[in-house]
Amino acid sequence: MIIGGREVSSASGDTFSSVNPTTGLEWATMPDAGSLDVDRAVDAARDSFETGPWRTLSATRRGRLMMRLADRVLERADEIATVEVRENGKLFKEMRTQLGIVPDWLYYFGGLADKIEGTVIPLDRTSILNYTLREPLGVVGIITPWNSPVLLTAMGLCPALAAGNTVVIKPSEMASAGVLEFARLAADAGFPPGVINVVTGGPSAGEALVAHPDVAKVTFTGGQRGGRQIAQTVGARLGKYTLELGGKSPNIVFADADLDAATAGVLAGIYGAGGQTCVAGSRALLERPVFDEVLERLRERADTIRLGDPLNAETQMGPMATEQQLMNVEQFVSDAESDGASVVSGGARAQQPGLGDGFFFQPTILRNVPAGSAVLSREVFGPVLAVIPFDGDDEAAQIANDTVYGLAAGIWTQNVKRAHRLARRIQAGTVWINTYRAVTFNSPFGGYKQSGIGHVNGASAVDEYLQTKSVWVELDDELQDPFTLKS
Ligand code: NAD
Repeated sequence: MIIGGREVSSASGDTFSSVNPTTGLEWATMPDAGSLDVDRAVDAARDSFETGPWRTLSATRRGRLMMRLADRVLERADEIATVEVRENGKLFKEMRTQLGIVPDWLYYFGGLADKIEGTVIPLDRTSILNYTLREPLGVVGIITPWNSPVLLTAMGLCPALAAGNTVVIKPSEMASAGVLEFARLAADAGFPPGVINVVTGGPSAGEALVAHPDVAKVTFTGGQRGGRQIAQTVGARLGKYTLELGGKSPNIVFADADLDAATAGVLAGIYGAGGQTCVAGSRALLERPVFDEVLERLRERADTIRLGDPLNAETQMGPMATEQQLMNVEQFVSDAESDGASVVSGGARAQQPGLGDGFFFQPTILRNVPAGSAVLSREVFGPVLAVIPFDGDDEAAQIANDTVYGLAAGIWTQNVKRAHRLARRIQAGTVWINTYRAVTFNSPFGGYKQSGIGHVNGASAVDEYLQTKSVWVELDDELQDPFTLKS
């Protein structure tokens, strides 16, 4: 782990194993942080914030350090991406693309560090100068999932650092090694000790971080259950939090869409990363006149997706990240079948030769899924697509919004008026029109409804890590005595 600029084991000496989902074998051993380790990391971050050089460093220098870290990440992108693939089984090309764009976050938010400005407020009482200071919060705890470990860490870390905070990162117990490699580079880039700390461990380490009274803010990316617990714990001590949670995102295909593009978009939306993304387009809404045609196109393509070693450039879909996840996906599909759904494609573990003991599940399409079936309402986090017919804009919006989630949605149509009209009606933080799964550093990303609170990305993400102070200065020399009546 990295605490106060030093690489350390856990105080207890306890460790846990990281399993490579492609082989089912353990490949790394990580320190298992207890509450003592979390305390040390928070102390290091607090000291660095209150008394360390970070506090007095100019915002421009702070930004410059972030840019130097960006350069280091670019140099080591291949290596860190390979580590991430061993941990989470996602395709090398996807993880390498992510590592290639992580520097964009560091450059962009590094550039914003010295552009955080207060305002001067013209008061009615003109003898008073009133202005605002925008100040960092202190220690920020960042808790991340396994599916895009370094990229999701960067989404919390970059605005937090730009605003002048220090951080303690608790990566997923399934994907800590890539984040540790990334944080090591921060020392190389010249970050003072204690600014970026990393503790490794499972939910209990996360809980200790969240409960710590010196953690001013928690940024959590993960599932709804963890999000709810964190909101309760942090809320109970009146701390601040940003939550980036899951989704049940609809991909809506109208009869007037470019069907080649729509088919490719729906497939990429659900089978990209094996469905293990928060924005997985797990419900395909197909307009009735093209329902059969699009379903047939989807089936043909789904049946030929090449499963295999994610490090192999030919592979199109890797394994589920854990055996437990594989079992969860299996359960969702068998429950849907018991509910009356029919399997159009896949529906079972993939057992082709060459897949060994890896945690592979077939790209799956379900139709006739009855309302109320869990696969329609809950996040599967696997390659399972439910296809649903609809007629017209109203029904599309009604089905799309019929979920507690509100993370993302896709609309496929060549009718520009309909596209914009529907974009307004969809209750989701991101709406893609004739594209899907695009995310970038300078456009806000966050959930509506139960998909989250607050947002990452975009210049305004820095606001999530700042507090505003109003400063009042009397400029008049005349004595202001409230007990003296003026005649
Ligand atoms: P998870 O909620 O199981 O774990 C996420 C992280 O939180 C891990 O580091 C875990 O150790 C920690 N954790 C879990 N419970 C905790 C608790 N009570 N207190 C403190 N820490 C706790 O999620 P996961 O399985 O790693 O990731 C998949 C989930 O993440 C999916 O629901 C997915 O949609 C979501 N996700 C959301 C986004 C987004 O930006 N909205 C992005 C990626 C993933």
